Amino acid sequence: MSETDPPLLPEMGLWQHLNWQPTTKQQYQFQRLYELILAGNRQLNLTRITEPVEFWEKHLWDSLRGIAPFLQESEKKDETLNSSFKVIDIGTGAGFPGIPIAISLPHWTVTLLDSTRKKITFLNTLLAQLDIQNANTVTGRAEIVGKQRSYQQSYDVALIRAVGSATICAEYALPFLKLGGLAVLYRGNWTTAELEALQNAVERLGGVIEATESFTTPLSQSIRHCLYLRKVAVTQLNFPVQLV
Ligand code: SAH
Repeated sequence: MSETDPPLLPEMGLWQHLNWQPTTKQQYQFQRLYELILAGNRQLNLTRITEPVEFWEKHLWDSLRGIAPFLQESEKKDETLNSSFKVIDIGTGAGFPGIPIAISLPHWTVTLLDSTRKKITFLNTLLAQLDIQNANTVTGRAEIVGKQRSYQQSYDVALIRAVGSATICAEYALPFLKLGGLAVLYRGNWTTAELEALQNAVERLGGVIEATESFTTPLSQSIRHCLYLRKVAVTQLNFPVQLV
């Protein structure tokens, strides 16, 4: 490897930690995604996670872990039986968890939402460079966009990682969901105080906490939690919005 060659992501045998194996094309797209984010980082402050192993674990693996059951399902079944979910990634930043998910589940359609225009401009170029056809972008604030008719109650799945407290994440995510839709809150540490606050908020927003998963990341053994919220009633949109 010459000095100008981009660093390579670790050996793909590591994917066994997800019980899922990307195709050659997907592996290539992950590597390209990594290179384009490193390049983008020179102009924009996109991420502090730049080492190959860390990028693999904290951006790729972590993004996909939240939707692991869907990945495993997509491998098992006849492709035509897979649900073509409409998904929104709220506060996507440099595209996480939305882009790895769009790459891994090409039959899903992923909307990447962020309030920072510069990040969305970067993502538009990135999507074109990676030839990702099943993702689109929106610039705006979640608490405003989620109340607009064309976005409200329109999504099967809402993803949200590192945007605010769990309560704020629920407030942002639930209005976007169709009845029966699923919100996935990506969290690090998780406390009973947070759970209590979330329970109150979720009830008020027409949801229930369907499952909480706790796990550690495969390489650095960092603590993670995923909260799965199911929308069971129409969200009343006059709830008090907490601005961050
Ligand atoms: N989800 C990404 C980025 C987290 S940083 C990751 O996990 O790596 C938080 C991002 O949320 C930032 O890009 C910020 O611009 C965006 N953001 C913060 N508040 C927001 C809001 N109310 N609506 C939309 N995006 C928001």
